[in-house]
Amino acid sequence: MSGAGRLVVVATPIGNLGDLSPRARATLGEADVVACEDTRHTGVLLQASGVRAHRLVSLHEHNEAARVDELLAVLTGGGTVALVSDAGTPLVSDPGARLVAAAAAADVVVQAVPGPSALLAALVVSGFDTRRFRFEGFLARKGTERRAALERLARAEEPTVCYESPQRLTATLSELAARCGGDRRVAVARELTKRFEETWRGTLAEAERWSGDHAARGEYVLVLDAAPPALAGAERSPEDLRDLAGRLIAAGLRRKDAASALEICLSLPRRTAYDASLAGTAAREEAASEGGGDAPVR
Ligand code: SAM
Repeated sequence: MSGAGRLVVVATPIGNLGDLSPRARATLGEADVVACEDTRHTGVLLQASGVRAHRLVSLHEHNEAARVDELLAVLTGGGTVALVSDAGTPLVSDPGARLVAAAAAADVVVQAVPGPSALLAALVVSGFDTRRFRFEGFLARKGTERRAALERLARAEEPTVCYESPQRLTATLSELAARCGGDRRVAVARELTKRFEETWRGTLAEAERWSGDHAARGEYVLVLDAAPPALAGAERSPEDLRDLAGRLIAAGLRRKDAASALEICLSLPRRTAYDASLAGTAAREEAASEGGGDAPVR
């Protein structure tokens, strides 16, 4: 090995071996080292594709930090490292980011052999407007992080792609329906490029029923359509929100009901809706004390 080394990020099939590109095959055969999540898994792919790799080393989420120095030594010594994951494009909800960052920081050439990814495959079959989109990867499983992620999906002004496990599919669709409303459209892409590939499309309310009636098997990607324009972004000024809260209160809602209405109808964070309801209450009380006419706020 001499001269400048090269790190090549190589996409591999997400289920259909025919999707391994000729350039991916050549790169994997020529690389001094193929870094992969699971050497047995990638060994099977290479064998089935007729590729004889020089050396396979494992690089997964638990050992990536420790492996970086070793692979960097290969790269700075002039060697070529091909990085793959178990399926699809490395670094997309898969390991590799530390290695790429370290290689870039060491001025090693980093190249991609692009190819399959469940993210783009699902997006392009979703039927939604794909000019702009968001990717959430796997949603956090619980707690504040999950609530924040659901909130982002509810408010997003463009379609959002999420990976989901079969075990969590129904629960996630239900939570999305509760958060975004049952009318929001969703596409559920399953087993892309494989024998039982299918894409289900409908509203979240229909999706909840559909997934409740079908045992989820295989691999899934959800594509949630953008929020309707009236709700998207909730980019209203605090004054606007205060006035809206004030009007709801004037119409007879209690302060906490006005806060809930703002939170649900405008997909606002709870805290923002609460603050707006307080400001609306204060504004109403001020107006009442000045004009003397209005009833006190409950
Ligand atoms: N790096 C990969 C990529 O580019 O697609 C994704 C890796 S992530 C750990 C694995 C998740 O991707 C699965 O849990 C599933 O949500 C999604 N996925 C992968 N292959 C899929 C397929 N053939 N059909 C549907 N979803 C798939």
